[in-house]
Amino acid sequence: MNDFPIQQIRGDFPILNEQVYGKPLAYLDNGATTQKPLRMIEAVNRLHREQNASIHRSVNYLSDKMTTRYEEARSTVQKFIGAPKSSQVIFTSGTTGSINTIAFSFGEGVIEAGDEIILSTMEHHSNIVPWQMLCQRRGANLRIIPITDEGDLDMMAYRNLFTSRTRLVSVTHVSNVLGTINPVKEIVEIAHQHGVPVLIDGAQAIQHEPVNVVDLDCDFYVFSGHKIYGPTGIGVLYGKEEWLERLPPYQGGGDMIDRVTFEKTTYNELPFKFEAGTTNYAGAIGLAESLNYLTATGLDKIFSYEHFLGNYAAKKLGEIKQLRMYGTSAQKAAVFSFVLEGIHPYDTGMIIDKFGIAVRTGTHCAMPLMQRLGIEGTLRASLSFYNTTDEVDRLSDALNTVIDLLA
Ligand code: PLP
Repeated sequence: MNDFPIQQIRGDFPILNEQVYGKPLAYLDNGATTQKPLRMIEAVNRLHREQNASIHRSVNYLSDKMTTRYEEARSTVQKFIGAPKSSQVIFTSGTTGSINTIAFSFGEGVIEAGDEIILSTMEHHSNIVPWQMLCQRRGANLRIIPITDEGDLDMMAYRNLFTSRTRLVSVTHVSNVLGTINPVKEIVEIAHQHGVPVLIDGAQAIQHEPVNVVDLDCDFYVFSGHKIYGPTGIGVLYGKEEWLERLPPYQGGGDMIDRVTFEKTTYNELPFKFEAGTTNYAGAIGLAESLNYLTATGLDKIFSYEHFLGNYAAKKLGEIKQLRMYGTSAQKAAVFSFVLEGIHPYDTGMIIDKFGIAVRTGTHCAMPLMQRLGIEGTLRASLSFYNTTDEVDRLSDALNTVIDLLA
């Protein structure tokens, strides 16, 4: 991929020039969080230095300007995911915040005792626990889609999970552990044949895959700003208008109200009905800046480079005989979970950290998946478009050193 301007792109992310333990940083933990382009860092800095004011509340000059920028940020997200209206884009604190919003509102508005919610074996805890809490509150039940040994969803089993009590399907678009890119369009189609809505957890997909919510026809799509090169503490909840109109608000407070008396409160229109309190407007504007950066760089170019780098890493890691890979789906993002035979992942992670290589070790907030795989944890290298083949080579060399030392 000689035509990809990798050095120029790396120059856009100041942290990539850092050294750790005297070695150049090889940041391969992008599934946990991504690094930030200077353009976003400077936009948020400038906002706080020159323009800060609370949105939607005052008539003063700065407040007016900030409100406009916040709503422009919403439109940027709307275009990025292909949502029909900007009022269908709700800013939350992140993927977890978005899922909890729907778990509460959908629970209040729809779920009754004996109802069922379908999840999958490969979900992140953030797409398990809110539904479990809802089930406990309402007396509902979870049904779980099993996975194959390669790490694909068992679609036949999925079809058979539907009953007359199924009320919602909530699945991840891309697994944060296995890297599997799930057939979410098909998942939605099948659910809709049963009249059941679908929430897609896009936390690991939105930064690696083209996402168009109209094409997917999903009812809800959620993701986190910090995993797509934006700030922390900001996230997105997209919903179909009929659902967002029908569901009750999640939290009460400022901005989500229309009129308040001690007897009764009426709620604001969308999207404000779901945005209680002073929102993270700096985060939303920062996120929009990152999305604009990605669009300007070229999403097609980014995704095809990541594809190339993923293939390179799969081949390179595949050459290490003692390495056992989890997640070998034909449809896979550049996420690699593995263990070195006979060596604890934590020990491996600690040693390669000293070589300047940042990966993640542990259960990756997916304990039920670990139970299915019969392991306690893995190492996970998750790549981004600012990573290089050289960094993958360094990872491979460091793993071989660990094997020489410990195996
Ligand atoms: N869902 C998936 C698939 C994830 O990978 C993550 C984070 O790793 C989350 C949800 C939770 O995201 P956040 O902690 O940003 O809310």
